Amino acid sequence: MNVQENVTTIQHKIAQACQKSGRKDADITIIAVTKYVSVERAEQAIDAGISNLGENRIEGFQEKWEVLNERADFHFIGTLQSRKVKDVIDEVSAIHSLDRISLAKEIDKRSDKPVSCFVQVNVSEEESKHGLTKEDVPSFIKKLRAYPNVKVVGLMTMAPHIDNEDELRSVFSALRHLKEEIEQQEWEHAPCHYLSMGMSNDYEIAIEEGATHIRIGSQLVGRENE
Ligand SMILES: *Cc1c(COP(=O)(O)O)cnc(C)c1O
Repeated sequence: MNVQENVTTIQHKIAQACQKSGRKDADITIIAVTKYVSVERAEQAIDAGISNLGENRIEGFQEKWEVLNERADFHFIGTLQSRKVKDVIDEVSAIHSLDRISLAKEIDKRSDKPVSCFVQVNVSEEESKHGLTKEDVPSFIKKLRAYPNVKVVGLMTMAPHIDNEDELRSVFSALRHLKEEIEQQEWEHAPCHYLSMGMSNDYEIAIEEGATHIRIGSQLVGRENE
């Protein structure tokens, strides 16, 4: 496991996917998902040029933030319990898992400035996944206007664990279309320019379909003890 090599490989694949789809590499933010690894391994990602880290649990988030906060921006990408919002709100660059009004209310209450949030969408409608259905997203986002410290910067989804490229592509493109629909509303609280989608196994397809933030764990930092 050589994190620097992994980053180089990923950057190369991003460049290819961008070229294929007429996009610019500079428009893609790599979030290194460090939930499987130690602080030391997370730091290797930063040494390799990564400046955004993602964690899906409060404990891991705090552990890495305490050591690395001067060197990276931190994203919260997992299910967030409302009572835990206060534990990360001042440290988080973006929350990728906004999926209910009660959570928006808590974010609004605990922050003293607008917090960048991605609304999580369960595009594939798998029961095991969190997020709103596509149909519910526009009315949900409209309601968020009531919470001035919640700024909807984009939409997020997790694709199903499948190898079928066409199916993956249709999930990602559905999220892009939904994003465009929201963007066109020009709601001040919801610029919604970004798409957080694509993980280790599907980030190239996600980029071809418009991803701006890709969340890569195992292919970038590995899993410790392997
Ligand atoms: C774990 C996780 C990832 C990264 O998963 P890999 O397949 O290891 O790249 C991305 N997004 C979320 C929300 C995750 O929980």
